[in-house]
Amino acid sequence: MNYRRLLTLSFSEVVAGINCMFPPVNGLRVLMYHAVGTPALGDELGLFSISPNLFKQHMTLLAGSQNVRVVRFEQASLDDLGCRVAITFDDGYLDNLDVAAPILSEIGIPFTVFVTSDFVRNRKAGFLSPEALRELGTFPGAQIGSHGASHVALTKCDESALNNELISSRHYLEDILGVEVRKLAYPFGAVDRHVRDAAFMAGYTLGACSFSGVNSLGRDPLLLRRTEISALDSGRVFRQKMHGDWDWYRWRSQDPIFL
Ligand SMILES: [Zn+2]
Repeated sequence: MNYRRLLTLSFSEVVAGINCMFPPVNGLRVLMYHAVGTPALGDELGLFSISPNLFKQHMTLLAGSQNVRVVRFEQASLDDLGCRVAITFDDGYLDNLDVAAPILSEIGIPFTVFVTSDFVRNRKAGFLSPEALRELGTFPGAQIGSHGASHVALTKCDESALNNELISSRHYLEDILGVEVRKLAYPFGAVDRHVRDAAFMAGYTLGACSFSGVNSLGRDPLLLRRTEISALDSGRVFRQKMHGDWDWYRWRSQDPIFL
């Protein structure tokens, strides 16, 4: 034992070390990625675009895990039976089609991409075009959800803007894909009771926030917690996050259930 090393451990390393003595937390863990290999919007710290190699390493670790079962986001049943993981991407980067989807298909992992519909409609550079979105929808295991229309914090919208963000994005994506879109990820994780209820009224059945942690029995399906995966998460940190060692992050923000 290197006792001098013990004195230099960070808080997160101490927590991870203690948590490793316990089994992984049961329930549904929803992972949140953004870009894979191309620049992400407003990403000054380089946290939101993971390298393709590291992403592949994460997925390979997941596929090889004895303790974790990978499930489709929309098939998630909220119970405490075992550890399940679902993969999601926010914003709708073009690299989700060009880079991530082939890796996921090859390994056989299902995934959901939450798309900002105005980025698609306006053919914003670096994001999925209507044709690319349609192609992504044909990938085995791929599901598309809404990330709103214009990527604004929904908690700051007035009533008419809120409904427009929720409903127009859903209809636009449904027109392109020819399938129902009932899943939503709240931009910036900005959600409160009012936004959650508006999403329900707009026809969504599953909502993903940015509030950290695992989802167990009784969790509101429109306020699902997610585990953010950063571009800097090594294989070791990824394993710790799957295990729940970083779930203390949730104490840094308030659960939207109470907002
Ligand atoms: Zn976003």
